[in-house]
Amino acid sequence: MRICVIGAGPAGLLFALLAKRRFPGWDIEVAEQNPPDATFGFGVVFSQGALAFLERDAPDLHAELTARMQAWPMQRIVHRDEAIDIDGNGFSAIARLQLIQFLQELCRAAGVEMQFGRRLEAPPPADLVVGADGLNSVVRGTPGFAPRIEWLSNKFVWYGTRQRFECLTLTFRECAHGAFVAHHYRYSPDMSTFIVECDATTWRRAGLDRMDDAASRGYCERVFAADLGGHALVSNNSTWRQFPLLSNDVWSAGNRVLIGDALRSMHFSIGSGTRLAFEDAIALDRAFGEAGADVPAALAAFERERRPVVEKLFSAASASSYWYEAFPARMRRLDALGLAYDYMTRSGRMSDERLRALAPDFMTKVKKGS
Ligand SMILES: Cc1cc2nc3c(=O)[nH]c(=O)nc-3n(C[C@H](O)[C@H](O)[C@H](O)COP(=O)(O)OP(=O)(O)OC[C@H]3O[C@@H](n4cnc5c(N)ncnc54)[C@H](O)[C@@H]3O)c2cc1C
Repeated sequence: MRICVIGAGPAGLLFALLAKRRFPGWDIEVAEQNPPDATFGFGVVFSQGALAFLERDAPDLHAELTARMQAWPMQRIVHRDEAIDIDGNGFSAIARLQLIQFLQELCRAAGVEMQFGRRLEAPPPADLVVGADGLNSVVRGTPGFAPRIEWLSNKFVWYGTRQRFECLTLTFRECAHGAFVAHHYRYSPDMSTFIVECDATTWRRAGLDRMDDAASRGYCERVFAADLGGHALVSNNSTWRQFPLLSNDVWSAGNRVLIGDALRSMHFSIGSGTRLAFEDAIALDRAFGEAGADVPAALAAFERERRPVVEKLFSAASASSYWYEAFPARMRRLDALGLAYDYMTRSGRMSDERLRALAPDFMTKVKKGS
């Protein structure tokens, strides 16, 4: 059996690792366009318990990650200079590069052949081609797939900073040009992720469409001066983008299958992109565990197991992204507590009863405030 995995992100590396461990005799190679130490962005965040699923399939990875992660038991909303803490809503985070490099180490030890600096423009001959090549997937562009993309209108940019934030925080700030929100959290003892988002009108009014990287960082540092404590924002190929909501009706075509961001995107506000990439990898490996080298049977089993879960989460993530598309109006209408409550119920899946069980202290504040 010869498997070519395109893309050495979380999805591709974990699938290659699990499949090679399960079938040491199979020939599994991973082709990655970038060098092994390159990555976009800074840290990635996982919601509470999100890594538990790794414990069974990759206990060494689970132990390594949990030991290195920054974790907090709550989330914070800052609006009009007031901070509202939401208990029971824990998160943990790690540097994306650290995560990727540890996966590379495990793959090397298992005998996966990894080729870096090798961009594939088309699937190579193999018994199975795994398209783990992210949002701009080449594999997804081959015949048989039916992707749909809806572009959100908000603009966002992914920075880092040396400011240490105590928990996953959403900070809302209004300035002369309009409303901004920052999603920020610490992912190592001395670094934090700092994603800045605004609507397209504000972005143009602020002149951000004409600014270079340094000017754009300077502008955001001024908007969030009260939060950054004098620390600068740091770039890592950081450019303003719009988020694509990508979904796919067809998951596999012939011997080609999509996993991770190549298959669908989940808005970063629900902190699940990497987790889902991992879960896809685990499900695909398990499908081969049952079907052996019968590729069509394994791909059918993979889709049968994963599709319902993915579709449910995709709709929650989309509801969350639409909430952000209208955040300036919500900021103007609601005080800090009202905004925090609106945020917590944004996906439409969180009833007051569930929220009372999950975040009793927060709901006591909401009750007093209403
Ligand atoms: C602003 C922002 C913030 C985010 N924050 C979080 C977060 O906090 N938590 C979280 O879990 N997720 C987050 N995500 C999402 C997360 O980064 C992705 O969901 C996750 O990386 C998906 O993993 P993947 O392996 O499918 O794809 P990727 O990580 O994108 O990996 C794909 C790999 O394929 C390679 N590749 C692409 N094309 C080719 C080719 N033709 N040939 C060879 N190699 C190729 C790429 O170089 C890349 O290494 C965020 C995303 C964004 C944009």
